[in-house]
Amino acid sequence: MPEFCPKCGNMVADGTERCPACGSRMRPRVMDEESGFTWVDFFNYSAVTILIILAAILIPVAIGLLCFGLYWLLAAFPLAASVLGGLRGIA
Ligand SMILES: [Zn+2]
Repeated sequence: MPEFCPKCGNMVADGTERCPACGSRMRPRVMDEESGFTWVDFFNYSAVTILIILAAILIPVAIGLLCFGLYWLLAAFPLAASVLGGLRGIA
């Protein structure tokens, strides 16, 4: 099955990496021939998945650390506790 250059529309042999007419790169190498799933798609999906997983892990950890840090701060510095208590009293 022949392919067409995405830039100039020149017909090139299947599997050609670069268009012989204009030298532009043909579609990225396909991972899965049947679905046409490319490495670019794979990395895009991976990046999104990694971001979601990182957010799912980091957000509770950050909240936990924040709570622990505040608790530690109040426990270690009674002055801070009184200041925070005073602020709460004002508000
Ligand atoms: Zn071309």
